[in-house]
Amino acid sequence: MDTDCVCQTHRGVLFLDELPEFGHQLLELLRQPLEDKMVTISRAMGSLTFPASFMLVGAMNPCPCGYYGDPEKECTCALSLISRYQRRISGPFIDRVDIFVDVPRVDYEKLASDALGEMSSSVQARVELGRAHQQRRFDGTHLTSNAEMTPGEIRDFCPIDGTAQSLLQAAMKQLNLSARAFHRILKLARTIADLDDRESIAAADIAEAIQYRPRSLV
Ligand SMILES: [Zn+2]
Repeated sequence: MDTDCVCQTHRGVLFLDELPEFGHQLLELLRQPLEDKMVTISRAMGSLTFPASFMLVGAMNPCPCGYYGDPEKECTCALSLISRYQRRISGPFIDRVDIFVDVPRVDYEKLASDALGEMSSSVQARVELGRAHQQRRFDGTHLTSNAEMTPGEIRDFCPIDGTAQSLLQAAMKQLNLSARAFHRILKLARTIADLDDRESIAAADIAEAIQYRPRSLV
């Protein structure tokens, strides 16, 4: 039996805490649904295809003890152990992730301070604005968000000026970025501009998007 379901209306978030603990093999299996937004399960009796459109969110420590790179507490892991731990996440898997963010420890002073961070309501307003830009942009197409753009659509919807182009070219060379990373940077820069209520992508948006590529830790 072969079920062809390409239902794109159901979407979800898949959050994997302690990402490396899921093991190299399982994480590699996630690459297919991440790309195709469908998952195919094959058994002796046949294969079934299910919709699997999801946003993957993963969290991990920099090393098994959790303190590698911490300015206050020393990491007790051997370098070989840290490298083995990080290698559980393969290069091709990393290539499929849009945003990498370091989350350093929060100082006591900040925790105890009376100053509040940005209100959730103002973040919500920004996200709604960004979504509205995307809705208008993709009206009449099968797309709903910047993340879904193919390379051809990126060419159409993410034009950049000469300054941004030189910046991106230099980053590609220096950071040895793949074609996949190149497209991710453009899509991300598109979203950064949308969140800032701008139709044109600035060089600063490209620079910010480059910041979200991973830096090798060890
Ligand atoms: Zn450690």
